[in-house]
Amino acid sequence: MAPRSVVVAGAGQAGLETAAALRARGYPGRVTLVGDEPPGPVHRPPLSKGYLTGAVSAEDVPLRPAAFYSGQDIELLTGDVVASVDRERHTVLLESGLRLPYGALVLATGCRPRPLPVPGASLAGVRTLRGLADAEALRQRLHGTPVRLVVIGAGFIGLEVAATARGLGHDVTVVEAQPRALARALTPLVSDRIVAEHRAHGVRVLMDRQVAALHGEGTDEGESAGAGGGRVRAVELADGERIDADLVVVGIGVLPDTGLALAAGLAVDDGVVVDEGLRTADPGIWAVGDCAAFPSVHAGRRIRLESVQNATDQARCVAAAICGEPRPYTAVPRFWTDQYAMRIQTAGLTSGHDETVTSGDPDGDRFSVFCFRAGRLTGVESVNRPADHGIAARLLAAGTRLTPAEVRAPGFDLKKLPRTPQTPPAPSAPPTPTASPSGSASEERLSVHA
Ligand code: FAD
Repeated sequence: MAPRSVVVAGAGQAGLETAAALRARGYPGRVTLVGDEPPGPVHRPPLSKGYLTGAVSAEDVPLRPAAFYSGQDIELLTGDVVASVDRERHTVLLESGLRLPYGALVLATGCRPRPLPVPGASLAGVRTLRGLADAEALRQRLHGTPVRLVVIGAGFIGLEVAATARGLGHDVTVVEAQPRALARALTPLVSDRIVAEHRAHGVRVLMDRQVAALHGEGTDEGESAGAGGGRVRAVELADGERIDADLVVVGIGVLPDTGLALAAGLAVDDGVVVDEGLRTADPGIWAVGDCAAFPSVHAGRRIRLESVQNATDQARCVAAAICGEPRPYTAVPRFWTDQYAMRIQTAGLTSGHDETVTSGDPDGDRFSVFCFRAGRLTGVESVNRPADHGIAARLLAAGTRLTPAEVRAPGFDLKKLPRTPQTPPAPSAPPTPTASPSGSASEERLSVHA
């Protein structure tokens, strides 16, 4: 039987989608969504792209209009924090003093930017980007006089900000500590291509370089500048180089927000530890989205994913479980990033591959990289090939076999592969381990012919 009330801690993409999916399933009980960010649930992807250019306005970023919450009878409490969980009494205490009972509790607390551990990191003009308020402050700075921007970290957010700022005419330098950008997320072919695109647009990209300190106005020592509260003026690298800066954006990754789970005595290991159905060791508590560390059938180990698709699909999986239809979370991971005229999309997981095959011209504007491990397709990265991305995601969801030789064959084109409906499994057949939880992605199968 479904519990009488659900409290969702964290009103981001995953929290909102959980509440919405509960109602979409006809869940009749009380649904309360608590979030500490005043505007309520927003689309984060535009915050490093169109919101900074001005193409997307503040009115465009809420995930749902205000009327949605009242219409769906979802109690949205913004500007409040779930301060603690009493697992014995099945209640949560909010910072405002409100105590809420729950039958099911969903932790959707997301992530926070990883702080830069160097002197001067708290100087004025040193920013991170996560929420609407961060994006608004950055947007205002980027729409004033030209700035010398230093982006620390060549991850997705740092590179998106760099591309956007460069497009607005600013002087941009990116400093990355690793020898390669996006090393954990993308193959060298695609990440090198992204870096080349930045350089072609006039961004100075420094790889394999450490930041030692940030310096403020009229000071030489980063530490004293930070303590003095001045405005950032330079970034000092470990090899002694000083880069002049009016604005610094730190994009060195995020840390899962696990404080609430930890204080409640739940297991935490780079995220809230959950089982394959996204449930914690407490049968009344689940975790979803960026904060959830789950055993992935695609990775073969426990991972955490930071993407809109993952937040949405995990929310649907947990809503189903709360409504009495538990299932393993097996959705194919999908991600996208937009930089300059490039849309880069990934389907599946491409880290840990032992073989890659490229389809299309890697020196051109459109190509895909197929990643294999022990001859089995694990993921596809596409540059300006949205059709490849969509088909690859369906193919991975259906567990369709595709070999490196087939991709290498002359004239190979995913779009031209004949589609044949998947033969329904015999009633006694076990479920396909890679089937989509929603069923949508596994409804058709691609027959692959070399
Ligand atoms: P969050 O969105 O972080 O939401 C969690 C919320 O919970 C936050 O509001 C947090 O403040 C709140 N919270 C935490 N603790 C508590 C508490 N105790 N009580 C109440 N509230 C609490 N993904 C893509 O796939 N493609 C993209 O192009 C892309 N671009 C992005 C650009 C930016 C600038 C950012 C920041 C992210 C981007 N992402 C992108 C990632 C994607 O937006 C996230 O993976 C997704 O939003 C995660 O949703 P979430 O609900 O798990 O976490």
